[in-house]
Amino acid sequence: MNNLPRVALIGRANVGKSTLFNRLTESHEAIVSSIPGTTRDRQMKTLAWRDRQFTLIDSGGLDPVHDEEFAEDIINQALTAIHQSDLILFVLNGRDGAMPQDKIVADVIRKSRKPCLIVVNKIDHPGLALQAGEFAGFGLGDIFLISAKNGSGTGDLLDAVLKRLPKQSQAKPTMPQIKIAIIGKPNTGKSSIINALLGEERMVTSAKAFTTRTSQDIQIQFHNTLFTIADTAGVRRKAKIFDPLEKLSSRQSLDRLKNADIVWLVTDASEPLSNQEADLSRLIVESGVGLIIIGNKWDLIGDKTDKTLAKFQDYYQRFFAYLTFAPIVFTSAVTKQRVRDLLAMSAKIQVERFREITENALDKFLKVILSRQRPLKGRGTRYPYIYKLKQLSVNPPHFQLVTNYADINSSYLKFVEKQLRLKFGFIGTPLKIESKKLMLKGKNN
Ligand code: GDP
Ligand code: GDP
Repeated sequence: MNNLPRVALIGRANVGKSTLFNRLTESHEAIVSSIPGTTRDRQMKTLAWRDRQFTLIDSGGLDPVHDEEFAEDIINQALTAIHQSDLILFVLNGRDGAMPQDKIVADVIRKSRKPCLIVVNKIDHPGLALQAGEFAGFGLGDIFLISAKNGSGTGDLLDAVLKRLPKQSQAKPTMPQIKIAIIGKPNTGKSSIINALLGEERMVTSAKAFTTRTSQDIQIQFHNTLFTIADTAGVRRKAKIFDPLEKLSSRQSLDRLKNADIVWLVTDASEPLSNQEADLSRLIVESGVGLIIIGNKWDLIGDKTDKTLAKFQDYYQRFFAYLTFAPIVFTSAVTKQRVRDLLAMSAKIQVERFREITENALDKFLKVILSRQRPLKGRGTRYPYIYKLKQLSVNPPHFQLVTNYADINSSYLKFVEKQLRLKFGFIGTPLKIESKKLMLKGKNN
């Protein structure tokens, strides 16, 4: 996604939205980015016109007649499209005149208070323009007569669109961004959690397979932070189409992890944890991303007492023994219990990932821990000597012990990590700690 202004095509079915979307995108699509879609999910593409760019969104359509089962989803998606847009193109069929459904759509647009242009389509020749006047009654904006089929009127329409667009999208101010990847076994509730967060049916959820086919990121603004949840369609697609074992293959999971700041590992708390989840946990540690472990379907745990949560925390902590840095959150996508905590927790983890400890604080810290425990002697006769503890980088925090010998054993590195966490926190993020032999300069002088 990008920060370009957004324009949504809104209207009931069969007025020609897809035809118009295709006509505009085929002739004017910007090469920079395209977000492929299907008719069921919203389609979005970036257009270039007179040196400016904007994103055109084709909503699913506001008419339930053609697809009863998905009616509500489609309406919700159109509402979302309106909400996320800077300008609405209200598309009507100029040959039908104003229909009752058009009036309903007009009301939805009016309530949104978004700027709007009325696009009267299927005016393939001027003789068909006679009825168009009745659309002025909606009072929603200037009227443009076009033919999506032969392209007439579309240039004037694009000019009018540019005039009404903000230079930058109003809907997307710049703010801190956190990229989230969601992984886990199929049916643990990954898509349900996304939907619970959105509070809107951004994706078409259904027990049926193949309902979501686009590969798209979802952005959520929460407490002045922009969360991008990566490839949410893929979360469903891979879960439903591929064999469960294949879905958890390292390559696919690694692809998800690669660009993420923080991973949400979703498990089903109502079932025992599995080997597949242990495998995933190893991948996560290696990748260096931040992590929240989620025990979802918490509503299915019956007869809870005040000890239940602690019992589950304990079971998860033992199971994910390598991941003791990760907070464990028990959620229900159904009741939405603690689902929003995931965002707040992720924001906190992100701060920890970027935390820089001053040199002075690290010097003091090193003295204290050396007084508690020194690294053991290795095979040789000399004791390793630690000169300094340095922080090399952030995201994730990366530390180096500068020694007279490179090989400080791993148990001492673990000790240092534990002490760093006790002293400075670093919740939810792995730490990299290595040792490096000091190169003494001027040794021969
Ligand atoms: P949507 O449901 O609003 O996306 O509508 P479609 O784009 O699928 O179009 C519905 C029907 O109207 C299709 O059969 C199109 O070929 C037809 N159509 C779309 N635009 C025009 C137009 O400008 N002129 C004519 N004559 N037909 C059109
Ligand atoms: P995904 O494959 O991980 O994306 O899982 P889905 O989100 O498709 O959910 C799988 C099934 O579990 C669906 O039938 C959901 O309704 C159900 N489910 C998801 N989250 C919860 C939850 O928190 N509680 C309960 N009781 N059911 C859930």
